[in-house]
Amino acid sequence: MKFYSTNNPPSHKATEGKKIHFVDFRTALLQGLALDGGLFMPERFPKLNKKFLKDISKKEFWKIALEISKGFIKDIPERELKKMLKDAFNFEVPLKKINENLYILELWHGPTLAFKDFGARFMARLMNYYLRREKEKLNIIVATSGDTGSAVAQGFYGLSNIKVFVLYPSKRITALQEKQMATLGKNIVSLEVKGNFDDCQKLAKQILADKDLKEKINLSSANSINFGRLLPQSFYYFYGYAQLLNKLKVKSEKLKVIYCVPSGNFGNLTAGLMAKQMGLPVKQFIAATNANDIVPQYLRTGKFVSRVSCKTISNAMDVGNPSNFARMLEMFHGDVKQMRREIIGFGVSDKQTRETIKNVYRKTGYILDPHTAVGIAAARKSNILQPIIVLSTAHPAKFREAVEPVISKKISLPPQLKKIINKAKKATLVENNVETVKRIILEKYGHIKKTA
Ligand SMILES: *Cc1c(COP(=O)(O)O)cnc(C)c1O
Repeated sequence: MKFYSTNNPPSHKATEGKKIHFVDFRTALLQGLALDGGLFMPERFPKLNKKFLKDISKKEFWKIALEISKGFIKDIPERELKKMLKDAFNFEVPLKKINENLYILELWHGPTLAFKDFGARFMARLMNYYLRREKEKLNIIVATSGDTGSAVAQGFYGLSNIKVFVLYPSKRITALQEKQMATLGKNIVSLEVKGNFDDCQKLAKQILADKDLKEKINLSSANSINFGRLLPQSFYYFYGYAQLLNKLKVKSEKLKVIYCVPSGNFGNLTAGLMAKQMGLPVKQFIAATNANDIVPQYLRTGKFVSRVSCKTISNAMDVGNPSNFARMLEMFHGDVKQMRREIIGFGVSDKQTRETIKNVYRKTGYILDPHTAVGIAAARKSNILQPIIVLSTAHPAKFREAVEPVISKKISLPPQLKKIINKAKKATLVENNVETVKRIILEKYGHIKKTA
């Protein structure tokens, strides 16, 4: 399987006759971003066979994951892949029924209580595999609006040949999120940036594109721009579908599913689009955003207008320039009409988010986190009266500051959070300035290249 850059796609008319630069999976994973600054895309999506779908309702998570992985990863023996997958996804992924047509796929049973564990844990194991095989070292740069940083930090913690630099926006993440990523130490370096998430993301992009730095150290990204993080996110779209088949007691030929995806950088939704390309019967995607409704607006107007993100109670989705949009555009050949056929989008205000948390709690006793609540609110707005699976992206305890006042009840901390609540912060406060960050990486912490 070969990968190209969204900045130089084979499908693009302007590039006809031009040479397309392809890389293999290993390079796409370790490099993160293409050399021309674009995002890696596979040249095609391997189609899963009919029998796979027919039997899917009986399959365990790792079996589904293995089948999909094999289509993309050709240079790792199957038994190694299987080991990595079983180890990475050693937690449950239950589908819960909320009411007649509303289902929630809980993606937060991993160590950091958010769906980003899927991408981070799989990617860490893959990178570790390749680096060990090649006796190489690597520096990972990751910008985070909260959950990515903790998932990546925890996913890579303790790996001796990988150093991780986490850039997070000062005072714009919750206390618990900060604890999850800034108390680890060892190979995890937390940089608290005086700026917002978009600043962090911009810094990360600049660092990754820095020629001088690249000559001295091996650099890669762990943001959702890394294809290695997207791939494992496509697994649970299949697994959620499998569980819905079981719950509805229907055969796969009879069911097309509707997925509603709380979105910020749109990695999660892009993974869903990939699952559909691979053969998952999806009738409709609902893109749910908070007030940062860049993509719903694009679907409405056909114009993509990025802007400075605004702060909401679903802070992991406070993104004003969603990085995976380039991939979505590529998948629909730059045509908004094609995108509209598969995706509808809704922006949800904080007020609506709170009302949703309150109503669902009152009616069912189920406690939603703000991000999942955005998804539920968008599913309601869609007026679709068929089974919808809303992806539940975080455990409510992670966002208890926002949730507890709404439901007038304390949320008890799961064991994963109890463990870290009293640990001391080990972050470095830095200016929103690329030279400063670069200096820290080079002088203090970075793994210097073997050859340097
Ligand atoms: C990151 C995150 C999202 C948004 O996911 P994207 O892939 O960036 O669209 C939603 N909810 C939570 C809890 C998150 O951490």
